[in-house]
Amino acid sequence: MLQDLPKRILDGAEISFEEALELTELSGDEVYDLIHAAWKVTRGLSGAEVDLCSIINAKSGRCSEDCRFCAQSGRYHTGIETYPLLDASRVLEQAREIEQSGAHRFSLVISGRGPSRSEFDRIISIYETLKSETRLNLCASLGVIDKEQARRLAAAGVTMYHHNLETCRSFFPSICSSHTYDDRVATVEAVKKAGMRVCCGGILSMGESWRHRVEFAFELKELGVDSVPINILNPIEGTPFEHLQPMSPLDTLKSIAIFRLALPKTRLRLAGGRAAALRDTLPLALQAGINAMLVGNYLTTAGRSVAEDVQMLSDLGLSSLGI
Ligand code: SF4
Repeated sequence: MLQDLPKRILDGAEISFEEALELTELSGDEVYDLIHAAWKVTRGLSGAEVDLCSIINAKSGRCSEDCRFCAQSGRYHTGIETYPLLDASRVLEQAREIEQSGAHRFSLVISGRGPSRSEFDRIISIYETLKSETRLNLCASLGVIDKEQARRLAAAGVTMYHHNLETCRSFFPSICSSHTYDDRVATVEAVKKAGMRVCCGGILSMGESWRHRVEFAFELKELGVDSVPINILNPIEGTPFEHLQPMSPLDTLKSIAIFRLALPKTRLRLAGGRAAALRDTLPLALQAGINAMLVGNYLTTAGRSVAEDVQMLSDLGLSSLGI
C-alpha cells in the first residue's frame, strides 16, 4: 500500500478513513517508509517552501474555561505570568522584530473564551496599526467570535483566523467541559463566512488513541481548513494533564505523516511542544509532512530562535515562504 500511495495521492486520489487507520499499525522501519511517502506528497503538492509565523501572547492567563492542558486557565495554579491586553506600541515593537527575523505571518493571541467588547475595539485598532506599519500577513487568535466580529477583523486586514478544535469530537469531553466542540466549530464557520482563511488544529498526546487522531484528521478535512497547527502536549505543572507522558519522537513523526497523507494539500504547521516531543529528530518532521512552523516564542514557553529555524530549513534545502 505504501509504495503506491504517494503516486495515488499526487494523481488526485484521497485515502479513506480505513486506510488511514491501517497506517497507524505501522511500526519499526515501516514508519520510515511512511515518512518517505509523506515527504513525496508534500514536495509534490507544495514544493520546498515553508510558511513561518509568529505570535505574541497579547493577553495572558485568568481564562474562565477549563481546558485541561492549558496553563492559562484561571482554574489551575500554574504560576504563569498573567497580564491584561498589551498596548499597541508593545505589539508593534514585537511585530517589527518578527518581520526582520524572517517570519512573514504574525498573530495576536489572547487568553479567554473570547474578547470583551472594549478589548475587541482595541484589538481592531492594533491591527489597523500593524497593517499600516508593517508588511506582515496578519492572523488573529482571539477565542470564540461571532460573524460581525469576524467581518470587522477581515476589514481591518486580518487574513487568517486561528481557532483550534484541539482534538476530535469524540475525545473533546475528556479535555474540556466548560464549552463544546460545536462552540469551536461555530467560530470556524463564522470565520469562513467572513472570507478569512482558517488555521485550525490541536494538540496531540493528550491521552487520545490512534483512532482519535485519525478521526481528528478527517474532521479537519471535512471542515475544509487551510492550515493545521500540530502541537504536542507539553504537560504543565498544575494542570490536570501534568502527569501525562509525551509520546515518543517516532510516534510524533508517524502522526504527522498520517495527517499529511489524510490532508495532502493543507499547510501542516508545527507549533508548541515540538522541542520536547521531537528532540533531535526535529528536522525529520519536515520530511514527515510539516510545511509550516510557528517560530520564536510560543504562548507560555520559550522557543528556539527564528534564525536557528531558518538555518535548519536552508540546511535541508527548503526555504521560508516570502523571504
Ligand atoms: S485553551 Fe483557550 S479557552 Fe481553553 S483554558 Fe486555555 S485560554 Fe482558556
